[in-house]
Amino acid sequence: MCGIVAYVGHREACPLVIKGLKRLEYRGYDSAGVALMNGQGLKIYKKKGKVVALEQELDGKEIHATIGMGHTRWATHGEPNDVNAHPHYSFHRKLAIIHNGIIENYAAIKQALLKKGHTFTSETDTEVLGQFIEDIWENNGGSLEEAVRLALQEGVGAYAIVIMSEADPTQLIAARKGSPLVIGVGDNEFFLASDATPIVEYTKDVIYLNDYEIAVIKNGELKVVTLDNTTTTPYVHKVELELEAIEKGGFDHFMLKEIFEQPRSIADSMRGRVQADAGTLQLGGLRDYLDKLAKSKRIVIVGCGTSWHAGLVAEYIFEELARIPVEVEYASEFRYRNPIIKEGDIVIAISQSGETADTLAAIELAKSKGATIFGVCNVVGSSIARATDAGAYTHAGPEIGVASTKAFTAQVTVLTLMALAAAKRKGTISDSLFRQLLAEMESIPAKVEKVLQAADKIKEIAYIFTYARNFIYLGRGLNFPVALEGALKLKEISYIHAEGYPAAEMKHGPIALIDEDMPVVVIATKDSSYEKVVSNIQEVKARKGRVIAITTEGDTHLPGMVDFTIEIPKVHEVLMPLVSVVPLQLLAYDIAVMRGRNVDQPRNLAKSVTVE
Ligand code: GLU
Repeated sequence: MCGIVAYVGHREACPLVIKGLKRLEYRGYDSAGVALMNGQGLKIYKKKGKVVALEQELDGKEIHATIGMGHTRWATHGEPNDVNAHPHYSFHRKLAIIHNGIIENYAAIKQALLKKGHTFTSETDTEVLGQFIEDIWENNGGSLEEAVRLALQEGVGAYAIVIMSEADPTQLIAARKGSPLVIGVGDNEFFLASDATPIVEYTKDVIYLNDYEIAVIKNGELKVVTLDNTTTTPYVHKVELELEAIEKGGFDHFMLKEIFEQPRSIADSMRGRVQADAGTLQLGGLRDYLDKLAKSKRIVIVGCGTSWHAGLVAEYIFEELARIPVEVEYASEFRYRNPIIKEGDIVIAISQSGETADTLAAIELAKSKGATIFGVCNVVGSSIARATDAGAYTHAGPEIGVASTKAFTAQVTVLTLMALAAAKRKGTISDSLFRQLLAEMESIPAKVEKVLQAADKIKEIAYIFTYARNFIYLGRGLNFPVALEGALKLKEISYIHAEGYPAAEMKHGPIALIDEDMPVVVIATKDSSYEKVVSNIQEVKARKGRVIAITTEGDTHLPGMVDFTIEIPKVHEVLMPLVSVVPLQLLAYDIAVMRGRNVDQPRNLAKSVTVE
């Protein structure tokens, strides 16, 4: 949820950490702070609000330091204010700590420390952990590394932490369990961050710290030990991330850039996997497990938010093409039930960040019941990617806008490829349909490009509905999850209440809401349910609802019937969501911008939800 950046080396730490925090701001942003150390000791500066507020706070202060760390907070314990912002000093101010996650048993630890005479300045669980570590360090007489290890053995919950000690200006200690932490290895310098984006500018060599590992950087050397004190040899990965990919590139917002990137990102999701001319399809990460997938008796898909919607699309496609029964579950519900997982079941976990706490917990549960787990993640090396048996990366490139767009289409692309591969192996798809769908898939980027050309028209429609208070989104079949996704986009970034419904379900309740003030977005493309959806539109019109219809190019019937139409190219029904979702993303974006919302960082939301 939050962003962590730390540095030790020969550069000026303060500007480097601030720049890194800005790259991570999308993760959580109610307050921000830095700790820096030079000859004058360990100094902390922090401020409620965005990183710019912190920058203003630092303005004019000459803080030269070659070791420092920073944090953007997404409050879980204590309201967002200056005091609760990280970093936190320990009781005797020998240490400073930043933390992403939750220490579940902080109250018990706090009680014990209170009894010893400790006092606390913040309401956070983080300050408790910092004081606990210092207390062990002072009383045990051992090294700080040992104190961190002992403290974390007691701590229950999820964390990525970084600690600086006044006693050693060459030392950073970091640890993780459940929250991401990446170490950048430079020339006589080290970087720590929640993801690789603040690091790639300086080095491409990174280490993904594993759960229960502690990284000790001291005197220019890195050592990684486990919580039970076994030294491990970390694997240094090369990150392929380029700087341009994490900058706005002339667009007003990351979200708009990411919507417009979709022709490229969808193509990247298929790159090297689909050869339509040859009629072949390979998914490297599935190779050894394709038989298992094809023979599975049931697939359970778990995800949250937009990933859950991608899962609903995949349900239709897997059932249609591979004839495997599919259930789609919210990861947060799945993990707290006693789900029935049988031998031969496959669980597919979907997560853009690969760090979603509920999805990770669902994976662990399914694993413990013997399921084979496939992952569909965007972030390479993420926790979910590493926790699964097999899977496929979506290769959409970094997604910075909090409201997911290109990650959704990339997930649907990859899941469609998985379904096609399973269907082919199982023999439930004819050769001609298989080839046809591969060719259609290759044509999707150009079709999305075409939808993007309607951006101005969509903006005009958005203008008319800027001040709507509610929206209903309707779709059937594969367009039903698209309706849910369209409504979610609008809610997330414009704060307008919006509901997605299966079009035919409307008459069982939501129809009561329809009047002349109710905009209804209907995905009414030419597919097997077209006629039925047209009837549903009639029902809305009869009650004076205002209909914005997403129609198939050349449809001459609907324009006379509805208030507004947005045309999209003809697409095979199975692939429709990849194209029909795009105008809904633009509509939500435009309305939010016209309402003056902070599109890339909507209130209360964070990009990667690493708490449950
Ligand atoms: N639980 C900590 C707090 O509320 C950390 C939250 C975060 O991950 O930003 O301060």
